[in-house]
Amino acid sequence: MINQLYTVNKNNMLKIFNTLGRKKEEFRPLKKKQVSFYQCGPTVYWTQHIGNMRAMVIADLIRRSLEYLGYKVTFARNYTDVGHLTSDEDEGEDKIEIAARRDKLSPRAAADKYIAVFEQDVKDLNCLEPKFKPRATQYIPQMKKMVQQLLDKGFAYSTDLAIYFDVSKAKNYTQLSGQDLSKNISEKGKAEVSDPRKKNPADFALWFFKAGVHKNALQYWPSDFSSPLAKNGEGFPGWHLECSAMNKALFGPALDLHLGGVEHIPVHHTNEIAQSEAASGVKFVNYWIHNEHLNVDNGKMAKSQGTAYSLQEIKDRGFDPLVLRYFFLQAHYRSKQNFTWEALISAQSALAGWREKILADKQQKKGKINRDFKDKFLAALRDDFNLPQALAIAWNLLKSDLAGGDKLATILDFDRVLGLNLDQIKAEKIPKKILALAESRQIARREKNWSESDRLREEIARLGYKVLDAKDGYQILPR
Ligand code: AMP
Ligand code: ZN
Repeated sequence: MINQLYTVNKNNMLKIFNTLGRKKEEFRPLKKKQVSFYQCGPTVYWTQHIGNMRAMVIADLIRRSLEYLGYKVTFARNYTDVGHLTSDEDEGEDKIEIAARRDKLSPRAAADKYIAVFEQDVKDLNCLEPKFKPRATQYIPQMKKMVQQLLDKGFAYSTDLAIYFDVSKAKNYTQLSGQDLSKNISEKGKAEVSDPRKKNPADFALWFFKAGVHKNALQYWPSDFSSPLAKNGEGFPGWHLECSAMNKALFGPALDLHLGGVEHIPVHHTNEIAQSEAASGVKFVNYWIHNEHLNVDNGKMAKSQGTAYSLQEIKDRGFDPLVLRYFFLQAHYRSKQNFTWEALISAQSALAGWREKILADKQQKKGKINRDFKDKFLAALRDDFNLPQALAIAWNLLKSDLAGGDKLATILDFDRVLGLNLDQIKAEKIPKKILALAESRQIARREKNWSESDRLREEIARLGYKVLDAKDGYQILPR
């Protein structure tokens, strides 16, 4: 009996590498065949770079994989438009205010501007729309409610400058990061902390008052907390609180999957867990997944070095955004990926090769999805969303000697996950002159007049086309 169950699970269960516990685990959603999925979205103070875009494509690939595996996915990705300071550890200026000053716009207009750029970018990369796109400034009442709960339960305290979460009260504060907090505290203790009344350097702000360095804050709301500890006045939420409150509003106290960049493990996500679990008393997230970063020329992407490329720069150099998506497919989400222009050019020619093969298959009779290839593809997705392997399987399919119609049906089925718009490839209308040259070349070949057939091939190439010879004919493609 047990044995039998084990075999079934072994073959068909999705396994996900959970940062909590750091191992691959069988995925069991809270509700059968349904998945609640949240991704920490962009702080909308600048055009996002292609590293950020990698994170967005990864989320989209995971979401599409889950749907392909038969789950109903409710996906949320937020916009941070207040409270994210230049340092993730409560120091510095609000990034949206920096943008507002730089662009001479109101904070709201600056956020709107970068949300519009971002939405175009994710659309170009063929990422499906999330069900929810919560904007932090629209969830202030929910955030204040959570602060109040934390005050009431004794997890939070107030100084003149902020309301803090007291990490010494949290159960298992380091469960996600596994960091040594005593070491962490002493390290942070050495750093400059702008609030001397903070009890513990690791305590983090739930709410900043419009005071001290933030006395000229541009975005603020009444801080009408009813607690002897909390100071009244005006203020704005801390960044970590936003994700906790938006999650709770959209999904309730618990959700299945939460994704973010690896840099969020020690601070942002650690703090999200602490405050959510302190407020609700239940486990916040069952599976934490973290994406690795994109490097450029083997270094960290940096605006100062001109390597924080935007999607616009990729397009300006003549690349189809889907080439970048294909490039992202080549690395697993838990691996670093290195961007170079050469690597993007290789992705471009690989994708062109796919399109060519698919175009050829489109000329054949419609076939059916091949079970063997599909099973391999499914197995790759079930193994912690192994998209590079899935991509290799798709390549093998295209190179296989399956009937063209079956190949086409199968690759279009895979494209529900890959998202390369393979159903939209169309044969260009080939000019009559090219058709005539190709026909003459075919005659020359039949007569074994190789010099003439080569000459015609070159002429066709000069006019921007190429001829591919097949067993029973030939095909003309744009070069
Ligand atoms: P931010 O706007 O800085 O909050 O970042 C938005 C998202 O992009 C977050 O999920 C980050 O973890 C992610 N991210 C930032 N830099 C990179 C990078 N170089 N590679 C991949 N993801 C990144
Ligand atoms: Zn977040």
